[in-house]
Amino acid sequence: MPSSLCEALTNSSINFDYQKEDDWITSGKLGSREAVLVFRTNILNPKIRKTLSEKSSAQALSETKDNKDEEESVLCQNANKTEQKGSTSSEPSSKEALNGGSTQQKIYLLKKPQQKCDNRPDKSTFTSPFKKILNRYSSSDTSISSEGEEPARSSESKSRVLKTSQNTINIKLAEDITKESGYESMTPAKSISNTEVSEEDPEVTSEDDDESGVNMPAFKLKITYKFHQTETKLLRKLFNVHGLTEIQGESNNFNLLWTGVHMKLDIVRNLAPYQRVNHFPRSYELTRKDRLYKNIERMQHLRGMKHFDIVPQSFVLPIESRDLVVAHNKHRGPWIVKPAASSRGRGIFIVNSPDQIPQDEQAVVSKYIVDPLCIDGHKCDLRVYVLVTSFDPLIIYLYEEGIVRLATVKYDRHADNLWNPCMHLCNYSINKYHSDYIRSSDAQDEDVGHKWTLSALLRHLKLQSCDTRQLMLNIEDLIIKAVLACAQSIISACRMFVPNGNNCFELYGFDILIDNALKPWLLEVNLSPSMGVDSPLDTKVKSCLMADLLTCVGIPAYSPEMRSHYDQKWSRFRSSSCQRQATFPSVSQKAKKSKKKGGGAAINLNLTGEEQRILRNARLQYSRRGGFVRIFPTDDSMQRYGNFLDSSNGIPISTPTVQSQTFQTPIMQHNYNQMLHQNLYCKDGGRHKQDDNSEADRIWQYERALETDSEIPFVKKPTVEKCEVEGRRLRKVMLKKISNGSELTPFQARQTFSLYLESVLRRLTEDPKDIHEKIILKFLNKFGGSVKPPVMFRNMQNIKVASKARSAMVAKLLGDFLENYKRDTEAYVDSFDHFGMIPSSAYNQFLTHAQESDLEAVLTLHTNVTGIMPFLYNRCGLSVPPTPPIPSGLYGFLRALPSMVTSSGMARELSKYDGYFKSYDKEKVFL
Ligand code: ADP
Repeated sequence: MPSSLCEALTNSSINFDYQKEDDWITSGKLGSREAVLVFRTNILNPKIRKTLSEKSSAQALSETKDNKDEEESVLCQNANKTEQKGSTSSEPSSKEALNGGSTQQKIYLLKKPQQKCDNRPDKSTFTSPFKKILNRYSSSDTSISSEGEEPARSSESKSRVLKTSQNTINIKLAEDITKESGYESMTPAKSISNTEVSEEDPEVTSEDDDESGVNMPAFKLKITYKFHQTETKLLRKLFNVHGLTEIQGESNNFNLLWTGVHMKLDIVRNLAPYQRVNHFPRSYELTRKDRLYKNIERMQHLRGMKHFDIVPQSFVLPIESRDLVVAHNKHRGPWIVKPAASSRGRGIFIVNSPDQIPQDEQAVVSKYIVDPLCIDGHKCDLRVYVLVTSFDPLIIYLYEEGIVRLATVKYDRHADNLWNPCMHLCNYSINKYHSDYIRSSDAQDEDVGHKWTLSALLRHLKLQSCDTRQLMLNIEDLIIKAVLACAQSIISACRMFVPNGNNCFELYGFDILIDNALKPWLLEVNLSPSMGVDSPLDTKVKSCLMADLLTCVGIPAYSPEMRSHYDQKWSRFRSSSCQRQATFPSVSQKAKKSKKKGGGAAINLNLTGEEQRILRNARLQYSRRGGFVRIFPTDDSMQRYGNFLDSSNGIPISTPTVQSQTFQTPIMQHNYNQMLHQNLYCKDGGRHKQDDNSEADRIWQYERALETDSEIPFVKKPTVEKCEVEGRRLRKVMLKKISNGSELTPFQARQTFSLYLESVLRRLTEDPKDIHEKIILKFLNKFGGSVKPPVMFRNMQNIKVASKARSAMVAKLLGDFLENYKRDTEAYVDSFDHFGMIPSSAYNQFLTHAQESDLEAVLTLHTNVTGIMPFLYNRCGLSVPPTPPIPSGLYGFLRALPSMVTSSGMARELSKYDGYFKSYDKEKVFL
């Protein structure tokens, strides 16, 4: 066990035979404190991984040297080419690829920044669809030494890694990066396809998909990640190919914890300096709709409406029901009603008047923005990605690319249409069920169909002479103000629970609606924005986003020896005192520390050790930012937002209380926001621009199109081929067993039922059938409240008439129900076969090949023979209705479905408000 960090560093010199470590480590040499892992999207491409693994490091090194000069010149040539959208990509010959030819060189080898390579387009040609050349990492990023020198100028770095028309490896390969939602394949969405290359490239076997980066530095350093209550295939893939190893179970011996929910404070408290987690404590202040609105409302009172008019007027029900009525009497609706803690458009409905909202409804009700920005007549909204790496000092980045979601049905503000979610809500999870939904099938199509990129929208608006510069500045302003409004509480939680400055980071998904006067409105902030991908465009944006995020945040490239050194130090520190403030060096230590550590030209001797660390980190992080644009601090952020910060400690103040009452005064008073701003932007008392973060730079970055250094593979979820004949044969076997007295276990019954409903859903989205939709609606109206979270639907008065939008709505409800039902089913898993039940292996075989009619036959016979409905109730339920006789024959089970369930109290309550169900309940569905 090493006794000192120095010894630990020496022990950690590991030889890499795969790639030059510089390609995968940045911000410092391996073994140094600042060294962190680099993540790149190009190795998501199995072909590139294959090429790399075939290449010896010796070869790579010699080729690097030989090709360096040549490469730089190629880079410059290519930089210009990339500006032309639609340049035809051609595949390199297999020989070229396998020999690590020029393409590979361009992707992986060192690239020196060249001033003359600046591919920034001429501002006069701004509206042309030029592309974003992502500022991905090469080892030249290590030009920022741990001594704290400034990063290279962006105009140079922007051209470092390029895709070229000749050299792009244009492969669409089978991959397991698929939509997280299991219903993806059911969507009958139209595709606009103009790709010549098949998405499922037969060259690539499934083994490639499982490949992990065993030769990568992260693997040798035994860097680990842990998922908690989340499953992000894209992220898992990124981790695995970069050599990170997953740990499961209770162990907290991770380098990176990625959780889909808020973290337990116990875990946060015990984080070692090298550990990273993807949330801040109390982030719900931003991400819960009710908390967000309240925090912003408080700022409106405290700082003035004109500064914080960034969210639609909102009320939290039932507490503020009266206020809502008063507001409605002043300015009439419509109002949009959203469950307080829900997402993906679930449970949302729009009403004209508050009396259409059920009493005691727990929801957030917001003024409905009736004049949204429309593209080609379709309402749209924005999802932008915001990374906060620190709350004190506040460091906020906005990802240069975002996603624009369009509603499928053309917008019409007439009240008769308020029921139509495919006109008023832009959520993909709703619109994907509409048969007119168009999904682009080429990553280059950024303004095709119902999902665009932010940069494509900006270019589109610019062509219509809209002021996109002001729009983006307003969006930045909205983001910063929302974070400022919620920061105070998060900062005090960080001070109490987070032991090290770099432990936490968070990626927020901001949903923004732009009105037709181009004013952005904040709708909500998502805690764990979906990383599910449903198209090549999605894959491109989200892969780049995640790779850039991981690199920017910086996962320390520490060896196990270095980690155990920190662990020992950490446990000693914890046993002595658990105060983070205790790590602050005393003033007398300042000069000594800064001398010892250096800090380069930019380090100010008046800074404490902690301040120097913060400054150095901020600079290094900025140098690794990739496609992230830092929006706070910027050169004018103190001027613009200084008033909202406490003058002594720099904390954003959102309560009228005096700061000293709110915060325990730390051992040393500090103002990190001011310190950082001064050191980054002001020198010698005057303005000194030190980076490429000016307003013009930022706007330029938002408007250019996203480009990647190689194709990122996307393929639809592979569907298992069912054999109809085998299905029928196995069905006979199962029916015989059931006739002979065997029963389905509750797990088997629920599996069968969910597969059955999935088949119905697929059939209805492909070929809507009015009467079947009504049956499903009736079933869900009675039973939707029994899953968690309940599947509710409202405002159905006007959907009696069959339409594509109604079909989409029914499909969405059924999809939501199925998702929750399947989650609940996991609790029923059988670990062994029970006597008198059907053996699980035989039954699974049946399920593999069963079609809708097979599943229906088994469910019908089982219900009629046993007289129980284990797919809906367990035996001991008190409110289990008598089992109705199920008619055999096609759709008999479906027709009997509504009579298998009784109305829940909640459904009865709702039907009082909903004329449709009042009459519908009386309608006969057994037609
Ligand atoms: P969720 O978290 O369920 O996605 P959102 O708040 O993002 O809920 O709203 C879903 C959709 O509803 C958005 O895509 C947007 O189009 C629409 N929407 C939400 N709030 C408003 C509003 N105040 N005015 C107009 N449209 C809104």
